[in-house]
Amino acid sequence: SGNNRGCGNRSFGYTRRGIRGSFVPPIRSKEGGVGNVTSRIARPAGKGNDALDDSTQRCLDMLCGPDGELPEKLRNLEPRLIEHISNEIMDQDPNVRWEDIAGLDHAKTCVTEMVIWPLLRPDIFKGCRSPGRGLLLFGPPGTGKTMIGKAIAGEAKATFFYISASSLTSKWIGEGEKLVRALFGVASCRQPAVIFVDEIDSLLSQRKSEGEHESSRRLKTQFLIEMEGFDSGSDQVLLIGATNRPQELDEAARRRLTKRLYIPLPSSDARAWIIRNLLQKDGLFKLSEEDTNTICKLTEGYSGSDMKNLVKDASMGPLREALRQGVEITKLNKEEMRPVTLQDFESALQEVRPSVSLNELGIYEDWNKQFGSLS
Ligand code: ADP
Repeated sequence: SGNNRGCGNRSFGYTRRGIRGSFVPPIRSKEGGVGNVTSRIARPAGKGNDALDDSTQRCLDMLCGPDGELPEKLRNLEPRLIEHISNEIMDQDPNVRWEDIAGLDHAKTCVTEMVIWPLLRPDIFKGCRSPGRGLLLFGPPGTGKTMIGKAIAGEAKATFFYISASSLTSKWIGEGEKLVRALFGVASCRQPAVIFVDEIDSLLSQRKSEGEHESSRRLKTQFLIEMEGFDSGSDQVLLIGATNRPQELDEAARRRLTKRLYIPLPSSDARAWIIRNLLQKDGLFKLSEEDTNTICKLTEGYSGSDMKNLVKDASMGPLREALRQGVEITKLNKEEMRPVTLQDFESALQEVRPSVSLNELGIYEDWNKQFGSLS
């Protein structure tokens, strides 16, 4: 056969067979159009009008159904946007597991029941048990919201799509709407799927700033339409929005994100776990329980990501000390380096400060009381 691209002998938009069944490559006409175009995918405008290159064709091939046809939802989308979604936004293997995430037991329990079970057993979770399709994770930056999104996809064996809403408004100016359609389109062909929208406030904000562009209003409308669409259907697609600024979400956004979970700063136990976990991975954990407790007391108010930075800085301590004593880096014997100590953490604490203020925490707690899901 002249075509073994994984979709039988069909290919999208291009007939690869001549009258006698011989292979006919797509021919670019002088005007830049393509010969042999069928109507199976609408001919994209502008740049996409060129013959598809191999990588784009491969992406499309992977999305076709058992009948070898491109699913209906994708037919009117530009191939290059589908390719971008497949290559840059889709993560086939989000390798985060629950056990990688410190603390947050309450959030893990809620998410398991609300999201993972329904994705694993759609037959049981229907009717009265049908789950909401929108979940909001809110709280200070660096507390594990993205990790939770990835873990959900991993635990539910779902395809994970990650997009930062601010990139839609900044990088994809004027094209955000089309990209959103492509995103939801590809996700529905990759079910079960989890779409994680970081900084969702920048997309669904209630601010009607004077300069609110027509294009960002359209983008928001398109996004809400797509959410409405899969909310009413039987698709196994879940949308997770994450934000550090929940107070900026408007009523329409809140209505669609039916479950809203507060992801707070790590508890003292969770901070101890992060320290131990990170240092143990490198075989550097030799702190006594007492010293660990002292560090936990000194790191009240640190986020998970602050803790990671702190551990990184502290673990440089033994190295810096050896170099100060005149040892050359090239002659340094790894085995002879001393372990990381409380003093290393105390110096690191001078360098790495908490990134969230008490004041900000108050805002999250108030919003949680007013709009958060308690279970
Ligand atoms: P967010 O999405 O809430 O801003 P992330 O999930 O991206 O934060 O976390 C950033 C990094 O901080 C993670 O890659 C991880 O190293 C660390 N981190 C944050 N929270 C936790 C946590 N609860 N457990 C373990 N590591 C964490």
